[in-house]
Amino acid sequence: MVAKILNGKDIALEIREQIRVEVDKQKKMGNIVPGLAVILVGEDPASQVYVRNKKIACQKAGFNDVSIVLSKTTTQAELLAKIDDLNTDASVHGIIVQLPVPEHINTAEIIERIDSEKDVDGFHPYNMGRLATSLPKLAPCTPHGVMTMLDKTGVTIRGLNAVVVGASNIVGVPMALELLNRRATVTICHSATKDLAKKVSEADIVVVGVGIAEMVKGAWIKEGAIVIDVGINRLENGSLVGDVEFDTAKERASWITPVPGGVGPMTIATLLQNTLQAAYK
Ligand code: NDP
Repeated sequence: MVAKILNGKDIALEIREQIRVEVDKQKKMGNIVPGLAVILVGEDPASQVYVRNKKIACQKAGFNDVSIVLSKTTTQAELLAKIDDLNTDASVHGIIVQLPVPEHINTAEIIERIDSEKDVDGFHPYNMGRLATSLPKLAPCTPHGVMTMLDKTGVTIRGLNAVVVGASNIVGVPMALELLNRRATVTICHSATKDLAKKVSEADIVVVGVGIAEMVKGAWIKEGAIVIDVGINRLENGSLVGDVEFDTAKERASWITPVPGGVGPMTIATLLQNTLQAAYK
C-alpha cells in the first residue's frame, strides 16, 4: 500500500480563508476585530520564525496583531505584569507566550497567569482540565489541528487503536485526550516505554511528537495505519525531517503527513480558530 498524503498546508489554507471571510463579515456588521497578542521573550531564532509566521497569519486573517518582543533579561515579575495588562485589555482576545522562554522564567506560572478565556494556546490548566473532562473550550492547537486532519481522511476514529508517541503537555498528553474523547483506545508512549516498536505496530493511528529525527521506523507501521508526524527536526544539511521515517512508512500507511507541510501549518490555523472563538464567544 502507498499512503495518501494528508496535506496540512492545503487544509490550513482552507481554514484560514474561512476565518478571513468570517472576520470580514463581522467587521462589516460593525462587530469587534479579534486581537491576538504574541509575546516573545529573548532572541531564539526558531521562536522568532514561529512568531513571525503567527504575525503574518494573524494579519492575513484580518485580526489585530499585537506582537510584543521582550529582552532575554526580562524578569518573571515584568512578564507577569505584561500579561496582567493584556488580560485587562478589551482589544486583546488571545494571548500567547512563545515557548520556550529563557531558563530563569517559570513557564507554569506564566501560563497560569493568562486569563483562561484568552488562553488561545490552550495550555492553561483550566483548558487542559476542560479537555480532560470531555468539556473542551480552548484546546491546545497542535493536537486539535491533528484532529481536524484526521477528520479530513473520512475515517471513523471511534474504536480504533491509537498510539501517541511523546507525552508532553503541549503535544502528547492533549493529543491522547482528544483521541480518547473520540473513543479511540489510546496508548501513550514516552521515554520509559518498553518495546516501542511493538506498541506502534499495533496502532491504527500513530501520532508521533518526540523531537528525534526519523525515530519511528517505517517497518514498525501496521499496514493501512494513519501516520501523523508532529516532529520538526533540522538536519545538518539544513533540510527538515519529522520523527517518522517517511519514505518507508508511506509504503505501509494508508495516510501520512509530510514534514514540512503537514501538522505545522495546522497548528497556526487552529491558533486562529481559537482566537476567533475567544473573540466571538
Ligand atoms: P518535548 O521534548 O517536550 O517532549 C518530547 C516527548 O518525547 C516526551 O514526552 C519524551 O518522554 C518523549 N520521548 C523522548 N524520547 C523518547 C523515546 N526514545 N521514546 C519515546 N518517547 C520519547 O517535545 P514537544 O512535545 O514540545 O515536541 C515534540 C516534537 O514536536 C518536536 O520535534 C517539536 O519541534 C515538534 N512540535 C511541532 C509542532 C508543530 O506545530 N508541528 C508544535 C509543537 C512541537 P518523557 O516525557 O518521558 O521525557
